[in-house]
Amino acid sequence: AFTKSKTISQQRQNLPIFSVRDELLQVVRENQVVIIIGETGSGKTTQLTQYLYEYGYTVNGIIGCTQPRRVAAMSVAQRVSEEMETELGDKVGYAIRFEDATGPSTVIKYMTDGVLLRETLKDPVLEKYSIILMDEAHERSLDTDVLFGILKKVVARRRDFKLIVTSATLNGEKFSNFFGGVPIFHIPGRTFRVQICYSKTPCEDYVEAAVKQAMTIHIAGAPGDILIFLTGQDEIEATCYALSERMEQLISSTKQPVPKLLILPIYSQLPADLQAKIFQKAEDGARKCIVATNIAETSLTIDGIFYVIDTGYGKMKVYNPRMGMDALQVFPISRASADQRAGRAGRTGPGTCYRLYTENAYENEMLQSPVPEIQRTNLGNVVLLLKSLKIQNLLDFDFMDPPPQDSILNSMYQLWLLGALNDVGDLTDLGRKMVKFPLDPPLAKLLLMGEQLECLSEVLTIVSMLSVPSVFFRPKDREAESDAAREKFFVPESDHLTLLNVYQQWKANEYRGDWCNDHFLQVKGLYKAREIRSQLLDILKTLKIPLTYCGPDWDVVRKTICSAYFHNAAMLKGIGEYVNCRNRMPCNLHPTSALYGSGYTPDYMVYHEAILTTKEYMQCVTAVEPHWLAELGPMLFSV
Ligand code: ADP
Ligand code: MG
Repeated sequence: AFTKSKTISQQRQNLPIFSVRDELLQVVRENQVVIIIGETGSGKTTQLTQYLYEYGYTVNGIIGCTQPRRVAAMSVAQRVSEEMETELGDKVGYAIRFEDATGPSTVIKYMTDGVLLRETLKDPVLEKYSIILMDEAHERSLDTDVLFGILKKVVARRRDFKLIVTSATLNGEKFSNFFGGVPIFHIPGRTFRVQICYSKTPCEDYVEAAVKQAMTIHIAGAPGDILIFLTGQDEIEATCYALSERMEQLISSTKQPVPKLLILPIYSQLPADLQAKIFQKAEDGARKCIVATNIAETSLTIDGIFYVIDTGYGKMKVYNPRMGMDALQVFPISRASADQRAGRAGRTGPGTCYRLYTENAYENEMLQSPVPEIQRTNLGNVVLLLKSLKIQNLLDFDFMDPPPQDSILNSMYQLWLLGALNDVGDLTDLGRKMVKFPLDPPLAKLLLMGEQLECLSEVLTIVSMLSVPSVFFRPKDREAESDAAREKFFVPESDHLTLLNVYQQWKANEYRGDWCNDHFLQVKGLYKAREIRSQLLDILKTLKIPLTYCGPDWDVVRKTICSAYFHNAAMLKGIGEYVNCRNRMPCNLHPTSALYGSGYTPDYMVYHEAILTTKEYMQCVTAVEPHWLAELGPMLFSV
């Protein structure tokens, strides 16, 4: 244990931030708000909290550090608890939605910005914190941007409260000005040169191009790990699969020894134990190839990367006016992101970044920096939250960059449709109850309608199942078998009821893991759903809402689903063709739906969310009766 702690303390002292520890503590002591700018990997996230702790900032409260990403909150808390030689959840803990790994002795708490935002509902001045670090502020996530406005008020109301805002890029001025011109502290950088190689022509299939590039580096390049940036889970899995296939082909086609390649994916839904692997050193000289989303841009620092392969794309949540709602869409990244990605290759020594796009695209087509989330997504949750913080006129809220007025009005309209706001835009009783749940407004509404229509237990299960990634497991090479297993669970009228059916059968089989495996279901996902269910049940208990069951006749459940989703209603237009009831835009059944290709084509259906891939798809649908729509949203439908 001694040698390990020694190396850890040596590692800590080697970080760029260590050389300015005392100056940093001094600026923080002398100012209520400080902006800290430093390269990714300089030690902001893991060290600042510890310096503050060592200096004594936990005497009258605890240290909170916010992260825009769940993975970062978990992974960094893990690392810092190791550095401080305590168990995770003891002195150092983390909290993300539906998961609280903190305890009575926690003094350094990492959390998502969303968690802190929800804490302000119960405690508007954040009494339990002596200091908050808003980390990764350059990401400008929706919740971070709202926190900016709220924390500015806390700073004004509490003299004993301190705020540190950290950012990896050089937009410190903007943050500083927002707080009235507070000091900006720069951590001196220590980075190596990164050579940039562009594609000569725009590339048609960036997954294939990335795989090729990685193989070329692996076979012919000098030692050093590879980091590939892609857009999302499916693409990452496909790339890892292609890479391992290429390696196998290579091994069986040559008599030469082939150097080992350790292929590791990283994305937000990846289980924590697999996430941790990206930080471990590869055994017996193998080269690591990490295949990541933009989570590896600035949120997580991985040492030893000498090669970056940048596809030039990332996924972003954007409000899609055609669909009238948010959708995750693939976009070209900004120049700022491209530079961050390249920088990952120059942390340990001089590196190379392969950009799978042209220099012209970089210079002339990419935006300078990403559009803040608040200016491109649905604000339903934010409006609900600010309304319950008694902010009457949202247009008056102190936003660093205000959202478009249309977007506020549109979100208010949607909340009005759900019955959360009344005709003058104030919270209704229903709206006040909805805020109590850490859920998107439609899901909160679904629960509360379950109370009214007396099928709360059933919708509680559905909401929990919708809060985890798909529980259906579809391993490569066993697609037909797993599809058949999935179909056995299908409830012909509804994907929501299919989820309910899966959960109830799992329950009937004593929540067994082997039963999940036999039926191609993700054990972890189901366990998570059960945990979420019990947490939501706790909230229902505090609201004194009793659990009701409707029993085997699930029509009332469909009616309840209808009431929460009539803003996402679609009607049959042609053979198997659906259009959105509000704006008449086409929306298609997803091939994984229970209704897809079943021959059953109801006149009306509602859907949980829309996704845009090659076309607009409805994700998770339920057939509904037209008179329900008329009953529950009469002003909208002329059916
Ligand atoms: P910053 O927030 O400035 O980007 P961090 O504090 O996240 O920097 O990281 C500083 C250093 O801590 C990294 O360069 C890396 O060496 C180490 N580190 C961070 N997280 C981990 C981890 N999970 N496992 C091992 N080392 C880590
Ligand atoms: Mg960081």
